[in-house]
Amino acid sequence: MADGTVVRVRNLVKQYATKTALGGVSFDVHAGEIMGLLGPNGAGKSTTMKILTTYLAATSGDVAVDGVDSAEDPVKVRAMLGYLPESTPLYTDMVVFDYLEYVGSMRGFKGAELRKRIGDVIRMVGLQEYVGFQIGTLSKGYRQRVGLAQAMLHNPKVLILDEPTSGLDPNQIIEIRNLIRELGKSHTVILSSHNLAEVRQICDRVVIIHRGKVVADGTIDELEGKVASTHRLILGVQPKAGQSASDLVAELQAQDGVAAAQVTHEAKTPVPHASFEVEAARDLRPELFQWAQRSGHGLVELRRKAMDLEGIFQSLTQDAN
Ligand code: ADP
Repeated sequence: MADGTVVRVRNLVKQYATKTALGGVSFDVHAGEIMGLLGPNGAGKSTTMKILTTYLAATSGDVAVDGVDSAEDPVKVRAMLGYLPESTPLYTDMVVFDYLEYVGSMRGFKGAELRKRIGDVIRMVGLQEYVGFQIGTLSKGYRQRVGLAQAMLHNPKVLILDEPTSGLDPNQIIEIRNLIRELGKSHTVILSSHNLAEVRQICDRVVIIHRGKVVADGTIDELEGKVASTHRLILGVQPKAGQSASDLVAELQAQDGVAAAQVTHEAKTPVPHASFEVEAARDLRPELFQWAQRSGHGLVELRRKAMDLEGIFQSLTQDAN
């Protein structure tokens, strides 16, 4: 599409027998973006992804990939997507190469072209040394690479990865995250996660869903800016001779606009200094700079503390009641 939108999701509703899993989900994913679909368990992430990949029909609403409506032409849409489901249904008794050959032939590739595609994806996911291994003998991290390889075999425009690091150990998680970032340089990626740190690390943009509704959509910086109603300022000070950190707390609290101030760190040697966290209703950095100058304290640090994703997430998804 002309505006760079590759995936367009509009008013998706999914009604299971008695449960409304999605209550009108809309978002766009742009070319080249790594978009994180973030939400607690049960939020509707897998349901959204299954509808995107045409594995599940929506009760109502529309999905278009590169302008093609997925209800009108699911075959064309599927050809543009690579999908890594949450639990990859890999054939554990098959050898990696044979499995990829099988997946590739199902996708309609054969002969030299099929072998080339297999070689390409094996290199992309770093499986060179494991092509002859039985899938069942691989670690979970390497099985996940096989899952990524099958998702990319037909060189799709968009990769859809459902909780790609769930169940992996910490080292494998780092490897798979790095790999996704690498793949994100040449693909548009949508991944789901309930892990805030993961989304911050990998994604350009985040759509947060909660109870089947989008509660936020933007870059992590934008979300942090939107949610932060309280400014937290970090202040590093070398107190004037004869003054202690607690003296400074009293001084800070007396400043106009300061709601609270506390010492977060104090060092007496080699040069006495202390760190403070100041809570304020507005950005008081200019005032605090002037206060330090007026009072004769040395100012060694003055910055705004960004609200972390954990805080954003809680404030967006907490129940009103
Ligand atoms: P997530 O992936 O964010 O954990 P899901 O999309 O799996 O969430 O599920 C969203 C909601 O829909 C949950 O409340 C879940 O229990 C419900 N759900 C999912 N699949 C089914 C199903 N096949 N039948 C009935 N309810 C389902």
